Amino acid sequence: MRLIMLGAPGAGKGTQAKRVAAKYNIPHISTGDIFRANIKNQTELGLKAKEYMDKGLLVPDDLVVDIVADRLLQDDCKEGFILDGFPRTIPQAESLDKALLSMKTKIDYAIDIAVPDENIVRRMSGRRACLKCGATYHIKYNPPKTEDICDTCLGEIVLRDDDKEETVLKRLGIYHEQTKPLIDYYNAQDILISVDGTVDIDDVTKSIIEILGV
Ligand code: ADP
Ligand code: AMP
Repeated sequence: MRLIMLGAPGAGKGTQAKRVAAKYNIPHISTGDIFRANIKNQTELGLKAKEYMDKGLLVPDDLVVDIVADRLLQDDCKEGFILDGFPRTIPQAESLDKALLSMKTKIDYAIDIAVPDENIVRRMSGRRACLKCGATYHIKYNPPKTEDICDTCLGEIVLRDDDKEETVLKRLGIYHEQTKPLIDYYNAQDILISVDGTVDIDDVTKSIIEILGV
């Protein structure tokens, strides 16, 4: 199964992508996680990406498309994958289509998690991320078992710099301008699925799995 997760920042893409990846035994590929790992390791890519991420801007297309195309060529993607946070612009979607065409394959479904803007800011201020393994929590909707400590790796969990309210509003504006048009792009390809992302985390997962099938 080859899948794309669409939705505003904070819609629940990462949360759902991890669950869908585990259910169908496919790799979860998050471009945000790839950039954050590069920032942590202070690579050249990480240093470049950080400049944009800290301002709530998108990293330029040419820094992201080749990374994803290379990742999709790895062995674990042969039976499928779930992309989270990519594509985020029409040129990225077109590059992805091209890369998949050269691999003689295509996306099965693009899953849009629909959440109105007013819910997003509230959600993002409560999101916490593990500094060590990248796991995400929400202080109210999905809290860790022990305050400020990651359930999985016992790392420290913190508010991401780009989840501060001012940056979230900037990211949301860019989402509407550059990423939301992908809904029409995939609708035109007849592979768009839309789910209500305002209900409980488990219920969102249920509706995605119901549509994808067991
Ligand atoms: P994205 O990957 O789209 O940016 P996340 O999956 O990180 O979003 O979710 C953003 C925040 O909202 C996290 O703190 C997460 O725990 C929380 N969250 C995700 N889905 C829901 C939901 N259905 N209801 C309430 N909170 C949610
Ligand atoms: P995310 O973890 O998906 O919320 O991504 C965090 C940040 O990484 C975004 O706000 C962007 O600055 C950057 N980023 C992640 N994926 C992409 C992408 N496909 N294109 C451009 N920038 C991206």
